[in-house]
Amino acid sequence: PAFASLGLHEALVRAVHDSGYECATEVQGQAIPPALSGEDLMVSSRTGSGKTASFILPALQMVIAARGELQEAAKRKGAPRGRAPAGPTVLVLAPTRELAQQVAKAAQTYGRHIQGLRVATVLGGMPYAQQIRMLSGPLDILIATPGRLMDLIDSGRCSLEQVRMFVLDEADRMLDMGFIEDIEYVASKLPEQRQTLMYSATFAGNAGRLASQLMREPRRIEV
Ligand code: AMP
Repeated sequence: PAFASLGLHEALVRAVHDSGYECATEVQGQAIPPALSGEDLMVSSRTGSGKTASFILPALQMVIAARGELQEAAKRKGAPRGRAPAGPTVLVLAPTRELAQQVAKAAQTYGRHIQGLRVATVLGGMPYAQQIRMLSGPLDILIATPGRLMDLIDSGRCSLEQVRMFVLDEADRMLDMGFIEDIEYVASKLPEQRQTLMYSATFAGNAGRLASQLMREPRRIEV
């Protein structure tokens, strides 16, 4: 389907077109509309299928909506300009640094028409000081590997109270790497009221158990 028909904000359709894409891939066509309606999703689709855009575009739309609501609230209160609360609107967990950086790049690319978009990464094996600095200001999208994020939450450096969308990319790989407790800890710090999108090659075994822990009546998408 054409990107313009999926319900995406004009700024996002424009960014996708800038990248030279007119038509959504299969996983994008199946995942984007229900994600925009607020459904929880469990998605299996291969790398190379366009899966990153299938969650990062709805994530960016969530950022646009959250900003709009903040502005409205500030207007109602008569405040000159509402200061954005600390903490990200969207949290993405990924198994490796490389994958997390790829997701961050996609967020910047597809978010290029969102003014002042703030994307941060929190990655194992990288210096703490810079990451702590990134977390101290307002933030739209945080992309993290589970272990490092757990450390930063634990030391009070990162608040997840504002998260409206939680994405797990390559969940089966995160579980294979032994991140189950880290993921459960991170999830326990998220608001109950949120949307969850879980991507995994398989939902057999542990990934399926995690899915039923984290989501409510998720829609299953397999491409
Ligand atoms: P992914 O499956 O997310 O790793 O994406 C694989 C590649 O497909 C990336 O290089 C994307 O830039 C590209 N891509 C994403 N969406 C589309 C699309 N709708 N049409 C063509 N290529 C795309």
